[in-house]
Amino acid sequence: MTKTSYDVIVIGAGIVGISCALKLQSEGHRVLVLDRNGVAKETSSGNAGAFAFADIVPLATPRHYSQST
Ligand SMILES: Cc1cc2nc3c(=O)[nH]c(=O)nc-3n(C[C@H](O)[C@H](O)[C@H](O)COP(=O)(O)OP(=O)(O)OC[C@H]3O[C@@H](n4cnc5c(N)ncnc54)[C@H](O)[C@@H]3O)c2cc1C
Repeated sequence: MTKTSYDVIVIGAGIVGISCALKLQSEGHRVLVLDRNGVAKETSSGNAGAFAFADIVPLATPRHYSQST
């Protein structure tokens, strides 16, 4: 049996885990992704397919308002 070694193991193949794994892989790391159900089988399977930036930085924050004016 052949042994394979990894630099990083990512637990969870939702959008966050896959994004982290891709970034690490693009930087040359050997990455293994493990998931109990499969790729994007939980929360990441049920969204609308758009990044909700307004939920990360609410539009009403003073900093956001002053930057846009
Ligand atoms: C109905 C709905 C609509 C949405 N719409 C939007 C939207 O339009 N735009 C937007 O930006 N966001 C939206 N979201 C939010 C967005 O989908 C989530 O924030 C995002 O998918 C979370 O990704 P995640 O990788 O953190 O989690 P998940 O997708 O849940 O991934 C976590 C993974 O980890 C695995 N895991 C957990 N524990 C273990 C373990 N012990 N061993 C192995 N594997 C494990 C799970 O199986 C899962 O695959 C929505 C969410 C819902 C529910």
